[in-house]
Amino acid sequence: MRQKIVAGNWKMNTSIAQGKELVHGILDRMAEVPQDVKLIVAPPFTHLYPAAAALEGGAVGLAAQNCANHESGAYTGEVSAAMIESVPCQYVILGHSERREYYGETDETLLSKIKLALSHHLIPIFCIGEVLEERESNMHFQVVSSQLREVLCNLSPDDFAKVIVAYEPVWAIGTGKTATSEQAQEMHAFIRSFLAETFRELAENTPILYGGSCKPSNAAELFAQPDVDGGLIGGASLKAEDFIAIAKAFI
Ligand code: PEP
Repeated sequence: MRQKIVAGNWKMNTSIAQGKELVHGILDRMAEVPQDVKLIVAPPFTHLYPAAAALEGGAVGLAAQNCANHESGAYTGEVSAAMIESVPCQYVILGHSERREYYGETDETLLSKIKLALSHHLIPIFCIGEVLEERESNMHFQVVSSQLREVLCNLSPDDFAKVIVAYEPVWAIGTGKTATSEQAQEMHAFIRSFLAETFRELAENTPILYGGSCKPSNAAELFAQPDVDGGLIGGASLKAEDFIAIAKAFI
């Protein structure tokens, strides 16, 4: 049985006070969340420490949205995997399309970030996905397989076994346009079979999350697909009621 996961990527939103309110809004509703669903929140760096205190190492996991690709040193403005581990935090989102597009993150950088994260006991939530032109020109499988080949396929089986994958078609992120459940299932099944070529049966246990305008009204249909193990949620994770409604969408 693969872990069911709903992770909230807050991006660059909320003040510390708003972040605290959001965490408490989630904690107050935890009794509604099925026991077999793991919730993770990914606030901005400045919010991690107070969020960790509020979460008190309980059922809700804590993720950073990025980490540096160096262990430590003269890298002004960067935050290392060791620092994130020390918060304490358990997860880190890596390879989000906004980081790839606006901050020039390459497969090579991402491989070094993933290795550093794993060496600091952080579980990477590794994001992949195609842009609209790639989907329209039928290149989406090629794009996604290349993102997997250049990064995850270079990990040892032990390291790979810890990774969570998030398929996020870039054309669906923050656009209100969601992949259909058929498109999501088709790609998730492709990702799993591609990973199985390198990692054999380990790929059966890899949680593959869907991301891209997932909300309470479409989560159930997406999560009902056999290879969709949950969601990475942007906009809808900023409202506790919506985030919890999504977590309740598993059948
Ligand atoms: C995201 O950025 O990871 C995301 C899925 O955003 P949204 O849900 O807002 O499309």
